[in-house]
Amino acid sequence: FEPWNDPDAKPLIQFKGVTKRFGDFTAIDNQTFDIYEREFFALLGPSGCGKTTMMRMLAGFEKPTEGTILLAGQDMAPIPPNKRAVNMMFQSYALFPHLSVWENIAFGLKRDGRPKDEIAARVSEMLKLTRLEKFAKRKPHQISGGQRQRVALARSLAKAPKLLLLDEPLGALDAKLRQATQFELMDIQEKTGTTFVIVTHDQEEAMTVASRVAVMDDGKIVQADTPARIYESPNSVYVADFIGDVTIIEGTARRSGDGYEISHTEGLPALYAVSDAQLSDGQRVFLAIRPEKVEITADKPENKRNALRGKIIDIAYLGNISTYHVALPSGQIVKAQTANTRRLSRRSFTWEDEVWLSWTDTAAVLLEH
Ligand code: ATP
Repeated sequence: FEPWNDPDAKPLIQFKGVTKRFGDFTAIDNQTFDIYEREFFALLGPSGCGKTTMMRMLAGFEKPTEGTILLAGQDMAPIPPNKRAVNMMFQSYALFPHLSVWENIAFGLKRDGRPKDEIAARVSEMLKLTRLEKFAKRKPHQISGGQRQRVALARSLAKAPKLLLLDEPLGALDAKLRQATQFELMDIQEKTGTTFVIVTHDQEEAMTVASRVAVMDDGKIVQADTPARIYESPNSVYVADFIGDVTIIEGTARRSGDGYEISHTEGLPALYAVSDAQLSDGQRVFLAIRPEKVEITADKPENKRNALRGKIIDIAYLGNISTYHVALPSGQIVKAQTANTRRLSRRSFTWEDEVWLSWTDTAAVLLEH
């Protein structure tokens, strides 16, 4: 499912040169991008980068200062929020406390004056979809937090919007329930075929649920791609660092074979990375390497060009994995991660151990900024 690579796929949402200013502050800076039908699109970025402003413009609560937002080819500018085929689910759920689950889900349909039997059929369908049949008669305070979250979801899907906006939808749930609910959310999104746009602070959540993750910085989407490509092929140090854990080694590049040699520290061997980046000799470059791609050994590895010696200064044991912080003679810290696949009778490495770090020629990514 990669409609963004399909020239015939029709985008559901199109941002065309959208800028949003509050006074002389630019919250969204000249953004052009598409979101496709049936996509689960996640907006991710630090506080204040403009995620909520994006959502509010899609919902119609804010108007772009410049540019156009199209929904199914139609300019949304003249269309008020309640007339858009868009619904928004808030983190607070905003359920009516005095109404039953059934009445909460039916609320929007009733307000629209839909016929009684249509409402009944639609509410049953939503109760089934969200596994709430048994709770139809209960009030919100008589169900659990996870169930309330599902009522909010059922209510926001009842009118079959083309687009559902979810603002931190799982923020009120505890970690364990949150994980289970992520899979449920994906399942419901797939069953209904509705396009979901989610804002979350939790990068693991974005990676789990989304077809594409859009990483934002300062009013701009800096990379929008599948979770795997965002992780494996970040386009900048910012993205590499924002998603997951990474070590960045700064150096200068020199063309060599099918990649580049990176000189980084006086007196240490140059590193080598296969790369199709277009770098000039002597150009400053950042080598980004994920901790799980760094191997840690007691002896110098043979046949590996990327091998550096260092001292373990920190260890975090996390059950399934252990993360090591290893200091190079230059003071640079390199993170290495090992999978604890066998039952540990003893730690294989410990603090102050002198170790070798190594990785393959294709493990690191070269970034220009
Ligand atoms: P958070 O993760 O903290 O919710 P966000 O990425 O959703 O942040 P936005 O709420 O979209 O960020 O805000 C983006 C920027 O625009 C912020 O610097 C914010 O202060 C500013 N901003 C948002 N709404 C207004 C407003 N009505 N008036 C002035 N500035 C605003």
